[in-house]
Amino acid sequence: MADTKYIFVTGGVVSSLGKGIISASLGKLLQARGYKVTIQKFDPYINIDPGTLNPYEHGECYVTVDGHEADLDLGHYERFLNVQTTRANNITTGRIYQSVINKERKGDYLGKTVQVVPHITDEIKRNVKLLGSKYKFDFVITEIGGTVGDIESLPFIESVRQLKWELGKNCLCVHLTYVPYIAAAKEYKTKPTQHSVKQLQELGIQPDILVLRTEHWLKKELLHKVALFCNVAEDAVIQSVDMPTIYEVPLLLQKQNMDVTVLKKIGLEIGATPEMTEWRAFLHKKAAATETVKIGLVGKYVELQDAYKSIDESLLQAAIYNDRILDLHLFHSEKLNDENAAELLSGMDGLVIAPGFGQRGIEGKFAAIKYAREHNKPCFGICLGMQCMVIEFARDVLGMKDANSTEMEPNTSYKVIDMMEEQKNITHLGGSMRLGAYDCELKKGSKAYQAYKKTHVQERHRHRFEFNGAYKTQFEEAGMMCTGENPETGLVEVVEIPTLNWFVGVQFHPEYSSTVENPHPLFVSFVKASIENK
Ligand code: GLN
Repeated sequence: MADTKYIFVTGGVVSSLGKGIISASLGKLLQARGYKVTIQKFDPYINIDPGTLNPYEHGECYVTVDGHEADLDLGHYERFLNVQTTRANNITTGRIYQSVINKERKGDYLGKTVQVVPHITDEIKRNVKLLGSKYKFDFVITEIGGTVGDIESLPFIESVRQLKWELGKNCLCVHLTYVPYIAAAKEYKTKPTQHSVKQLQELGIQPDILVLRTEHWLKKELLHKVALFCNVAEDAVIQSVDMPTIYEVPLLLQKQNMDVTVLKKIGLEIGATPEMTEWRAFLHKKAAATETVKIGLVGKYVELQDAYKSIDESLLQAAIYNDRILDLHLFHSEKLNDENAAELLSGMDGLVIAPGFGQRGIEGKFAAIKYAREHNKPCFGICLGMQCMVIEFARDVLGMKDANSTEMEPNTSYKVIDMMEEQKNITHLGGSMRLGAYDCELKKGSKAYQAYKKTHVQERHRHRFEFNGAYKTQFEEAGMMCTGENPETGLVEVVEIPTLNWFVGVQFHPEYSSTVENPHPLFVSFVKASIENK
């Protein structure tokens, strides 16, 4: 396609309406028509990236292959599009300012006063266009975080206004709003939508398409009213009705011809409606499943809906590919101990030990792992979960009573998980982290190898501490094998106890790369083992 087309997705009325899912779903529909699509997220906060934000603030921190700590919406983009994102797909206000300030210090502005308009907005626009020009995408969908009217998002909205003007037909704005149901009046109310559109118009943007988030289907008259008051064609008023799963949203939008409306507005040929065969097959499989698989997830953020987003989605996908309904149980690691582990966990078919940072809740993870190891229950340790498998084994099997990670206890006599020499000298937060995709060689015959069906894999990392190679022989002689290693550094990436049915710990994060059309082999294999364990 000659010119890249830019679609902006803004939100009004309230947050959490699902801009990420709408962006991902529209992206999927355009991709299904053969276009090369990418989705980008702008976050209006000052942090350079969400890497330093705790899960209470921001849910899960997602990691891209090139080692960027990113907003969790990028996870949705990858799960829907089955295409990897990079650091260019997630930009914060902090990064925009950092780049402008660096240029100012270098004298790039030649003595001019540096201002929000045009310097900040130019930097925002440069980052929008970069994906189109450098990576040659047909469509760049840019989701603007926050809600229209927020002080913080004004420079982004202003940049959208300028780009709409500059790009003309090659640019569209999709605005997502909320239509609440007022129970006492037994009515749906469109006033918040009208106000939110008005606010956008005051900022110089006329939305081209409106997406109304609602609990139930709205009547035609209501849509007509919204179209009339908001200067939008009636076929450009789309409903986003609550769905049992986010994966149904692309089909929901397709049914309302949202992609057709986009193509018409941009002036592209419509062509045949894509079949979405693989996507539909996934949903059919999901609908056809009748039996459940009970998975317990052990972590310290279980009360937060989004803290383990990618793990939840990976498990859901893996369950569906195993023709099962996922029955996910969350166990707070601070509430688990050796006394209650059997009672609480015995009903589970398999256990996942979650990633994390810091001491809090760590003992409960050991209790869950010990229970799984002694009762041959499928157990999948991810990052800190894997490190806990190693520590628990050291303490219980190798008799190293105070074995620990130096993250938790710097003076432990058995530093079975430790910071590696190269990382010790890097002091600033985030700097010492091993981030992004690294190679891993798997041992033939291992559980991991059986899952992947290949020896060479690449997986994403986000951690500081590592299995301490000095103890490798001791572990292997006692039955915990190192079955995956980084070919360059020798760092241990995977541990397993081969005598058990499925007991695998991975230092990396497989959950970041499981997608609807390409579920992660380790999750699929773990869920399969859990079903067989029933
Ligand atoms: N806290 C551990 C480390 O830094 C594990 C991190 C994680 O689970 N993502 O190595």
